[in-house]
Amino acid sequence: MEKAGSPTPLTRLTEDETLFRDSVLEFAGREIRPLVREMDDQARMPRTLIDRLFELGVMGIEIPDAQGGAGGTFFHAVLAVEALSTVDPSVGVLVDVQNTLVINALRRWGSDTQHAQYLPQLAARAVGAYALSEAGSGSDAFALTTRAVDSGGDFVLTGRKLWITNANEADLFVVFATVSPEAGYRGITAFLVERSFAGFSVGKKEDKLGIRASSTCELLLEECRVPRANVLGEVGRGYKVAIETLNEGRIGIGAQMIGLAQGALDHAIAYTKERKQFGKALADFQGVQFQLAHAATELEAARLLVYNAARLRDAGEPFLTAAAMCKLFSANAAEHITSLAVQLFGGYGYVKDYPVEKLYRDAKIGQIYEGTSNLQLQTIAKQILGS
Ligand SMILES: Cc1cc2nc3c(=O)[nH]c(=O)nc-3n(C[C@H](O)[C@H](O)[C@H](O)COP(=O)(O)OP(=O)(O)OC[C@H]3O[C@@H](n4cnc5c(N)ncnc54)[C@H](O)[C@@H]3O)c2cc1C
Repeated sequence: MEKAGSPTPLTRLTEDETLFRDSVLEFAGREIRPLVREMDDQARMPRTLIDRLFELGVMGIEIPDAQGGAGGTFFHAVLAVEALSTVDPSVGVLVDVQNTLVINALRRWGSDTQHAQYLPQLAARAVGAYALSEAGSGSDAFALTTRAVDSGGDFVLTGRKLWITNANEADLFVVFATVSPEAGYRGITAFLVERSFAGFSVGKKEDKLGIRASSTCELLLEECRVPRANVLGEVGRGYKVAIETLNEGRIGIGAQMIGLAQGALDHAIAYTKERKQFGKALADFQGVQFQLAHAATELEAARLLVYNAARLRDAGEPFLTAAAMCKLFSANAAEHITSLAVQLFGGYGYVKDYPVEKLYRDAKIGQIYEGTSNLQLQTIAKQILGS
């Protein structure tokens, strides 16, 4: 039997990956945990924390060293999002959108000039956001109506985007608009829009169930002039930018979900070992042990799906089905595990003085953004049916 070159276990990390993950976990415990309750109550994330994330090196993970980034892999980004989300999934999604959507899209589709202009900013201080959805187009994303009119040197963008993560903090927005509504998806074009561009503004901020510290806002484009040099990829090929970026992005959401599920499970294990009823710790009851064992097994299965999808992506292998499966499964696992954690805390699980009710609220978003669970099922079904 050939041993050399056989695949390593999916959850085995390289030394560098272990060091990186541990440094992010340590940061999350030290710098984020004390802020979680206040950030959730106030529905805001302090800029000082965002600055610390830049210093930690998690805001430009795949940006090459030469452009000020960490020169890491997509898998590193997944590890960072997972580790941050064990403590606060709102911070997890800020880092996720920055890396797996914005930087990813720019690196894949951007010109050399765009790379030189924007990647160093994104690695050093600029937050990015990704604006596809509108009031009338969510799952049916390519029904978007934001219009881009070619006016010689510039494009003039008019329309509204809804539900845009990081919008409150972002300096750079990847905005999708159509240059030709009659051309259907073939009119869709991606633009790099700076917050300071005339005609661009950030509108209403949503008051949400969960991930409350992550901003979600409307964007207003009122005859916003965008230089032709800021078209990302080709005119009329924005649908490809969107599809391909979101295929990768949903692995990041899988990472957010396994991180928050791990956080909830850790709390549940610690609490059931402490809390005594009927003269013994809750964790001494076999009924409770079995519930925890089920949760740990579901979480491990979710993690294997997420890591496999990320490793496939880094290996340059097809990962479309793996990404859809990992998001679908990990979002469901997160919902089950956070619900169990609330249950095992009893009445204490239902109040804000303990951390699990927040994670329960945070989990729901995994079934909604970057393609709802039904849309993931649609992708998986298409692949297995060959349709
Ligand atoms: C907190 C938050 C952050 C977000 N961040 C971003 C962001 O940064 N950028 C961005 O562009 N968007 C973002 N979104 C938007 C998000 O991606 C959409 O909400 C999502 O794609 C669903 O679209 P919708 O809300 O219009 O729901 P709809 O598409 O109207 O779906 C409603 C329901 O119908 C089901 N459904 C729809 N079509 C089908 C079908 N063909 N078959 C079966 N079932 C179907 C869906 O599964 C869902 O359950 C965010 C949303 C939220 C809530």
